[in-house]
Formats: sequence, structure tokens, C-alpha cells
Amino acid sequence: MQQIKLVKPYISFEEVETDFKGVFESGMFTKGQHVAALAKEISQYTGAKYTHLVTSATTALWTCLKLINIQKGDEVIVSDFSFPASVNVIEDLGAIPIFADVSLGTYNMLASELESKITAKTKAVMFVSALGNPSGINEIAVICKKYNILLIEDAACAIGSSENGIKCGNIADLTCFSFHPRKIVNTGEGGAITTNNEVYSKRLQFMLNHGAVNMKGLALDFEQFGYNFRLSELQAVMGRKQITKLDTIVKQRNEIRNQYIQLLIPIGFKPQLFTKGVKSNVQSVVFTVPQSVNRDELTLKLRELGIETTIGTYCLSECTYYKNRYNNVQPNASFLQENTITLPCFEGLDVNYIVESINKSI
Ligand SMILES: *Cc1c(COP(=O)(O)O)cnc(C)c1O
Repeated sequence: MQQIKLVKPYISFEEVETDFKGVFESGMFTKGQHVAALAKEISQYTGAKYTHLVTSATTALWTCLKLINIQKGDEVIVSDFSFPASVNVIEDLGAIPIFADVSLGTYNMLASELESKITAKTKAVMFVSALGNPSGINEIAVICKKYNILLIEDAACAIGSSENGIKCGNIADLTCFSFHPRKIVNTGEGGAITTNNEVYSKRLQFMLNHGAVNMKGLALDFEQFGYNFRLSELQAVMGRKQITKLDTIVKQRNEIRNQYIQLLIPIGFKPQLFTKGVKSNVQSVVFTVPQSVNRDELTLKLRELGIETTIGTYCLSECTYYKNRYNNVQPNASFLQENTITLPCFEGLDVNYIVESINKSI
């Protein structure tokens, strides 16, 4: 029986071999040419003025909240359908996460939810481009401007996506990307922060480099407080190879999604919606299952047929920790956690075979 995984990496050892050798020969395993080049390439690709490479989207999100001085008692409004890292970083700084419910079509924060949840204590909004889809972020940005609230995009899944011709990374005040193997740019672990704000960018250099950017005599000058959240040279080599082919990857993924849509809509599956003006990178191909289908049963039957699938993503307010702590479950996010399924998507996938297997399983 075939074993079909959810994803396959868009990077091979052969592609990185020569550059890896170069890194070993130079002895520059960190803070070298590849990190500098990848940061520049991400800025060029997204249109954002400044890019800082980091160890993960989680450290990126945490650093951004810290940078804008989120502290105890502040409220941060967060999209409720996401990976729990989006809310854990808020909780860690002693701030209060305010769960904003999401659209059952796009899976993204509803503007009406945001407006109804803004208070005098609201310091920031964390908009999640769910599964790579930035639908609605520009509308959210307008509301944030109106109320003078900072906007952070959790674009962990969204490198290569855009809304109204503006790439993710160039929309919010600060944007965080992930290069975890489950995402479409894979550096093992890794991430990036982009911004157009020079003051933020300068401060980030300190925050991500132990608070030391300049020299004092022959040694580093530790002028500020900071940590080390840097990406390494070998990881940057991997990132660079994938950024170069990102547009091709995005195109292929959209084609696979369209094949699924053609075949699954007639049997009652509803695709995650992209609004007009959105180009999604299709980080994940996600459908809401028909009412008559139990998502978990379908997942198990597909597993028996050798096909790996997973849930869409998580309802944050319903995670045991957050449910116990705040008891404020959002209905749409909860529904999506129970009724969405992520299907395999990679180059060369036989979509017909997956759909036949789904038909056999429902
Ligand atoms: C994957 C993911 C994260 C975490 O990314 P890491 O790089 O693994 O820290 C955060 N938010 C969202 C929406 C994600 O999908």
C-alpha cells in the first residue's frame, strides 16, 4: 500500500551540498554571508524594508510583543483559530489574550469581532493568516490604525501570500514567519521578523544579539538587555534555496488545491475561502467536511488507506490550558477545530487517488 504523507520538503541535500561545504571550509557557522543574504532576499521578496532572521516563529512573536512593550495587564486581541504559540507568547508576558472569533469561510479574525473587543487596555492585535491565507488583514490594519493599536501578523504559515498586491511581511507593523519543516520554507527550525519601522529594526538587532551590537574597545558592548535568537548559516543556506523557488512552489500548491476543489465541492466539502485580492501560498489545503461526515472517523479511515491527514488547526480558547484559565470558547473557531481537515499537498501528488479514498471513506 502507498504511504502518502501530508508534506514533502521542497529542498534536497544535493541542492545545499556545495554551500554547506563552503560553510564548513570557511568556519563561519553563524553571522556570515548566507544569513545576511537570506535577510536581504526576504526583504526583496516581501517588500519589507527590514528582515531579521530568528530561531522560530515562536521566538519571533515573543520578541515582537516584548519589543512593543507588552506587559502585565495589557490586552492583546488574537485570532482564535491558530497554533497555540500565537497565544502562549501573550500569556508569557503577563498580558491578557482576548480571543477574537474567526470567519467560517476564511478562518481569519472577523473585523466585527475585533471592533467589539477593543478596550482602553488593548495594546496590540495579533492577526493570524490562518494556514497561509491573509484574507481580511488589510481591513484589520485599517481598524488598528483608527484606534491607534499596533498590528502584528502571525504569518508563520504565510510566506509568499499577499492581499491586494501587498505581500505578507509588508502589511502589519511587525510580521513573523516560520521555517519549521511543516511550513513551505523549511530550515529545520527557524523564522523571520519583518518590519518597515527603522526604530523597531534597530531595537531588534539588540534584542536578538544579547543586547550587544557595537564594540567597546576590543570586546562587545552590552548596551541593552537581550537574548540570542539567531538563525545559523547552514539554516540560511536551506532558506535561500527555497526563497528562490517560492513563486513556483506557490503556483504548484494553488494548482493542487484547485484540483481538490473541482472534485470535493460536488460531494459537499467546503474549501477554506480566499477573498478577492488574495493570493495565498496554500501552506495547507483545508476543507470543512460535510455535515454528515465525522472528521475524526474520516481521518482514521484515510490513515488505514495509508494517507496522512490532520485537523485544520486549533481553537485556542478551547485548548485545555486556556479553557481552564479564561473559559471563553469562541464558537466558530471551535466548530472549525472539529470539522476541518488538512489534505496532503506536495509536488507530484495524485489528487484523484486521495479523492477516491475519501469517497470510499465517507
Ligand atoms: C507553526 C506556527 C507557529 C509556530 O512556528 P514555530 O516556527 O514552530 O515556532 C506559530 N503560529 C502559527 C500560526 C503556526 O502555524
